[in-house]
Amino acid sequence: CGVFGVFGHPRAAQVTYYGLLALQHRGQEAAGITATDGERMYSHKGLGLLSDVFRDGQLDTLQGSAAIGHVRYSTAGSNTVQNAQPITVLTHRGNLAMAHNGNLVNAGDLRRWLEKQGSLFQSTSDTEVVLHLVARAGRDTVVENIQNALSFIKGGYALVFLTEHQLVAVRDPLGLRPLCLGRLGDGYVVASESCAFETIGAEFLRDVEPGELIAVGPDGLQTFPPTHPTRRAMCTFEHIYFARPDSDIDGWNVHAVRKQLGRILAQHHPAEGDIVIGVPDSSISAASGFAEESGIPFEMGLVKNKYIARTFIQPAQELRDIGVRLKLNAVRSVVDGKRVVLIDDSIVRGTTSRRIVQLLREAGAREVHVRISSPPYRYTCHYGIDTSSKGQLIAARMSVEEICREIDADSLEYLTQTELMQAFGFREGERVPFCNACFSGQYPTEVYEEDKRAHER
Ligand code: SF4
Ligand code: MG
Repeated sequence: CGVFGVFGHPRAAQVTYYGLLALQHRGQEAAGITATDGERMYSHKGLGLLSDVFRDGQLDTLQGSAAIGHVRYSTAGSNTVQNAQPITVLTHRGNLAMAHNGNLVNAGDLRRWLEKQGSLFQSTSDTEVVLHLVARAGRDTVVENIQNALSFIKGGYALVFLTEHQLVAVRDPLGLRPLCLGRLGDGYVVASESCAFETIGAEFLRDVEPGELIAVGPDGLQTFPPTHPTRRAMCTFEHIYFARPDSDIDGWNVHAVRKQLGRILAQHHPAEGDIVIGVPDSSISAASGFAEESGIPFEMGLVKNKYIARTFIQPAQELRDIGVRLKLNAVRSVVDGKRVVLIDDSIVRGTTSRRIVQLLREAGAREVHVRISSPPYRYTCHYGIDTSSKGQLIAARMSVEEICREIDADSLEYLTQTELMQAFGFREGERVPFCNACFSGQYPTEVYEEDKRAHER
């Protein structure tokens, strides 16, 4: 998912809309915006792309100088309008809206506890749990109520809250999910990724620190550092696949990291080929790094239909298969008779790679050597990236040789975890500020049995 917030701009909802457009790659299942003019709150949300949800002038009804927004892909809870965000509750001190990127590991426990206390839930998403915790905290200020709620929740989250008078943004204590802060005129903006700031002409100030809470109100910006600083565990998969290449996360530019991953891949896992091609869009940076390092020419052997949403983000397997076919085509004049080195950022279920190798062979490729710019994805993510259960992860079931056969490649190699960390400048054995749990199985938080079972199906 992607979150956005703005405080102190006369057209807050419009700014949010454009910010969210830049974050649309983070989720295409639902979108929503809540704005406030200091007295009332105005919301609109629905299923689909932003441009679908706000097709009929709904944006003009969202008045005021502060707003938050969300683009959704479902990791927890089903894809229904009830689960679209922002979600809003009426508390004894006014309205409170909230949007969430990430996934809590103890939402189930908290939900049962809240229900016993009489809370009524409208959705199946774990986001509502946070909102109920805030609403019932009963402290003096909204910030204190939010801080109280945060003391109960565990997992990965970037949260934005809106009241009639304040915008509040929070990043989880490990920094699993990204969140950054910018300046727009006299106001402030927060967004999942910095690319949103460039789109709207805001100035990037900094990343929100892990565990930090930032509150913006009529008196300006206040920051509340984490009470118990822990180690950092930023999601590497944001860099590998999820984020946009023009974003910077925690000081690393995503494109530069991907390119470096491609270089390291060429150094440690070379392949004999005539051309290097990347799977658009997320693997182009890594493919260009591989080509530069290996001296094998970079070519455009695959063309993407820009008007098809990311295949992964369609939840049902049947739809995903069709999605791959609609999405990519091979350029025959480029690949015909060639030994192709195919760079992809990850193999999750294996459907995409298998189909792409097949496309390339149908277009005349003589050999297809697949190189993956990340380690085998073997464990499910509990922090908001991947929805697939362990049984669907091809690397959880098969060895690299078996996967190679399954996707019908001539050879297949992945980066190791050490090589992955090299791209960020870390040496073997060094303590790293990253989560690599989907590769290593070493989760940076407790993982509750129930959450585990939900992912193991
Ligand atoms: Fe990111 Fe993987 Fe950690 Fe999930 S498990 S937060 S995808 S690195
Ligand atoms: Mg891809």
